[in-house]
Amino acid sequence: MIPASGSYRLAKARVHQSVTLGLAADFDNDGFALANVTVTDGKIAEIAAHGRAAVPADAIDLGGRIVLPCFVDCHTHIDKGHIWPRAPNPDGTFMGALNATGADRAARWSAEDVARRMEFSLRSAYAHGTRALRTHLDSVPPQEEISWPVFETMREAWRGRIELQGACLLGIEGVRDKKWFDALARRVAAAKGVLGVVTYMVPDLEELLDHVFAQAIEHGLDLDFHADETDDVAAISLKKIAEAALWNGFEGNILVGHCCSLARQPDLDVLDTLDKVAKAALAVVSLPMCNLYLQDRRTDHTTPRWRGVTLLHEMKARGIPVAVASDNTRDPFYAYGDLDMLEVYRMATRILHFDHPVADWPKAVAATPAKVMRLDGFGTLAAGGDADFIVFKGRSWTELLSRPESDRIVVRAGRAIDQELPDYAELDELMVE
Ligand SMILES: [Zn+2]
Repeated sequence: MIPASGSYRLAKARVHQSVTLGLAADFDNDGFALANVTVTDGKIAEIAAHGRAAVPADAIDLGGRIVLPCFVDCHTHIDKGHIWPRAPNPDGTFMGALNATGADRAARWSAEDVARRMEFSLRSAYAHGTRALRTHLDSVPPQEEISWPVFETMREAWRGRIELQGACLLGIEGVRDKKWFDALARRVAAAKGVLGVVTYMVPDLEELLDHVFAQAIEHGLDLDFHADETDDVAAISLKKIAEAALWNGFEGNILVGHCCSLARQPDLDVLDTLDKVAKAALAVVSLPMCNLYLQDRRTDHTTPRWRGVTLLHEMKARGIPVAVASDNTRDPFYAYGDLDMLEVYRMATRILHFDHPVADWPKAVAATPAKVMRLDGFGTLAAGGDADFIVFKGRSWTELLSRPESDRIVVRAGRAIDQELPDYAELDELMVE
């Protein structure tokens, strides 16, 4: 359907107001309008409302199929991905995940092992229509010396297909060894990465956060936190991060993931935290599938009672940038997943109610994470921008989100890409004892 020439016209593409720039059209209640899109040499030359001008006879009639910009996945762990067959989570709990992953990392994460699983993940993400991806990289010694060079090689190999960003990952207790942590910060800076830690309610949390911020300021790094991935109402590190950002006068971008406990806290505490998060200009990413899997996990054969996700609606209402992302795939933190951001959006719609109205929620998998990741021109359709988009079969939200859309067409630089998914059997030899 999409000509290999990279130059053509599409007629009756159904585009969404929230992720289409500069289109004067009458958008319907679902945020959609029909548009004609001119692609020239791999770029979008023009997006015009359908029906306002004559359509050339040679235009490709999309018949109202939805066309969205390629996805931006701002929180993943492709260094952990696909270890499930050799490192399953014994009971589905967070501690089960931490322990199983830690043991597997120590025993098995050679450069080749990490590289082959990363490559597998990126091929899947690319085939599903992802254009940019941030991965956390477990950086507890000696893994940082193994995984970061692999990541840098992978980033170069994938440039032009997937824009890769890396963030270091370690429990905040690791910051107590300042000499080691400062060396890690230098390593991350040299790799043009993002400084990341997992916050826990340790007694010296504020002091450790100050040190993380000081290192980020010294090296000009953005920050990325895993915070409060628990139902424990005493977990308030999101607020502590916001306070630290304010008193350190931090000017870089800060992305905070999870924030699950916020949804369990009293309203007045929530309001105070959200005030600070907005004032400190933090962005928040929810990981709905992973949260559904790990949060409220019960080992006594009783049924989970809450969804596990944070308060995205309240955050968005305050102007806090909010995103959803894949998080883990087929590892002890989440037994499933394939880095398919349409699946993430579909699940987010169901778990987080991204509907009635849909409003501008599509930005949460496109324009908003692109901004957090400082990727100009990503996550939107715009005249003058790259022709990087996905043509779906669905013509409405209910059609789009009811089927897997395995037959979607991913277009990069104006051309349909090969969307064959890697075969699980390719990883079999990495899974033997
Ligand atoms: Zn994560």
